Amino acid sequence: MGIPRQLTAQRGKEVEIMGRIIGIDLGTTNSLAAVWQEGRSRLIPNSLGEYLTPSVVSFDDKGMVYVGKIAKERLISHPEQTASVFKRFMGTEKTYFLGGKSYRPEELSALVLRKLKEDADRYLGDKVDEAIISVPAYFNDMARKATKDAGALAGLHVERIINEPSAAALACRGWNQSSMQRADETLLVFDFGGGTLDVSLVDCFENVIEIAAVSGDNHLGGSDFDRVIAELFCSENLLVLDELPLKRQRVIFESAAKAKCALTKEEHTVMTVSDEGYHKQMELSSRKLIQSSMHLFHRMIVPVQSVLNDARKKTLEISKVALVGGSCKMPAVQQYLRRFLPESQMSVSNPDYVVALGVGIYAGIKERSEDIKDILLTDICPFTLGTGVQNGADAANPIMAPIIERNSTLPCSRVQRFQTAGDFQKTVKIDVYQGEEYYVKDNICLGEMNVEVPIALKGQESVTVRYTYDINGILIVDVKVDSTGREASQIMMTGTNTITPKEMESLVKELERLKMPPAENEEFQMLFALGERLFAQSTGGLREEISRRLQYFQYLMDKEQDPYRIMKWKVNLQGFLESAGEYLDTMEFSWQQEDDDSWYQERKEDEESEEEYIRWYDGHLTS
Ligand code: ADP
Ligand code: MG
Repeated sequence: MGIPRQLTAQRGKEVEIMGRIIGIDLGTTNSLAAVWQEGRSRLIPNSLGEYLTPSVVSFDDKGMVYVGKIAKERLISHPEQTASVFKRFMGTEKTYFLGGKSYRPEELSALVLRKLKEDADRYLGDKVDEAIISVPAYFNDMARKATKDAGALAGLHVERIINEPSAAALACRGWNQSSMQRADETLLVFDFGGGTLDVSLVDCFENVIEIAAVSGDNHLGGSDFDRVIAELFCSENLLVLDELPLKRQRVIFESAAKAKCALTKEEHTVMTVSDEGYHKQMELSSRKLIQSSMHLFHRMIVPVQSVLNDARKKTLEISKVALVGGSCKMPAVQQYLRRFLPESQMSVSNPDYVVALGVGIYAGIKERSEDIKDILLTDICPFTLGTGVQNGADAANPIMAPIIERNSTLPCSRVQRFQTAGDFQKTVKIDVYQGEEYYVKDNICLGEMNVEVPIALKGQESVTVRYTYDINGILIVDVKVDSTGREASQIMMTGTNTITPKEMESLVKELERLKMPPAENEEFQMLFALGERLFAQSTGGLREEISRRLQYFQYLMDKEQDPYRIMKWKVNLQGFLESAGEYLDTMEFSWQQEDDDSWYQERKEDEESEEEYIRWYDGHLTS
């Protein structure tokens, strides 16, 4: 299913062949890829045929790495070798110690990107070598640089990072339907994911998409609701969540997330926790969840107010509210927002896919696709950039003097003049800070510049400082001494812990050594991971039966040449494991050990493959 490569005629003479460009929504919880095809942005299915790939990475002892759904299963069966939610720590010093080796968040993200790239290569029948990746608007420079590095580690050239709300706006504007008439509008993008809330106000006119303001809460997302439910469960069952072993905690979180998602469709649900003979249930209703998480709801509206204030807009001026991200599927979230925002403006369609579809559109722009080349996307600087100035009240604690205010449209350039603060000062130091806090110590220091000034009394010498922030988030600082005209200029390369080109080389080699299961095996691996998880959670006869069936599966995989027999057993095993999972999820309160034993006896199917298995099983016992 090969797609012709993009051909670009340059000045009518040379023809340059470009590889494919894909758009990637690299999420905290789930990641997706999209591509511009036949005049529209299309999602790319992964090797399991699904669009969402969980952003989870797991290692085993044999040098294999699993990414996505398999890794998510291993969060419970192999908690010490599995990591999730690492996007939150992009651009920080945090490291993860997994399977005997430490990894930076960039490396873990790189493995997710590599998986998306390999799935895309296969789906498109063509090599993908470039990607546009979306990041939350409030990602700072270090996190953006880390995202680019993750791309490079995965063998992807990432020239452009775009903000998630810009991508969402692109998708909501309906560029997928190229002939559509587009009115001017102001869009409020409410992106509520697994770990973060990202609210943006986006002005759209003709073919311009301009972010007017962004705000957010970096520590508010679906997992907070999971925690509320998990804690409710623990308090009802006299447990202390954080003191439980890691595996039990993860089982409880997993059940909590399931119960939360069930409330999307029903008012009431039963949360069941089954883990190694521990079986408990809790009744949960939407009402109970709302009552226990009012503090989270209150926090949801804060960034909405903040973007309206920053953009000096009223609620009535919003033409559309785009609900984006998995957590927007919660009816309670939608109801709560309706109290503040007119219902008629709310649009919830494909909250899981909006951002990825938008990045796919941007990938189309990048490929210079004829259909959409005229779209102009502007970004804003999501945080304030400034410098430290003397604090008259406390000399040891300089104050932030903003130069580029947050929510300025990019590219932008601002000038400010500063005078010397002391008598006979020889140099002026310009510390460059990013952030909204009053004291510079509470903001992030991006670097410093020193310029010499003629010796004079305080206030007699001055420097003119220009901050220029370009479309790629690179900050250039120019300082001019007003009396002498002497100038200095510096590009602020942020972060001390970013990967150097040399480190990059060795990291690429290390990551290359890790093998991912071949795509055609992934469904089998998935089944195995599910089996291992259910094994880890169950006890008694059921556990033994799961173990035997997995052994038989492995035996067939290793020894059996007949693909038909393997497939037949695969289907059988899948049925067995799915109903075992359901059984563990919905078990009655009066659960007894014997129930487990009788349950699998009952569901023995009158099937050829089952008979073969039983023959194997009997032989296995006697050997
Ligand atoms: P991210 O942008 O962080 O990768 P997503 O937009 O994929 O995240 O959203 C993931 C979050 O959405 C998770 O916390 C998940 O539990 C939640 N979620 C997904 N589906 C539902 C649902 N049906 N009801 C409630 N929450 C859901
Ligand atoms: Mg997201």
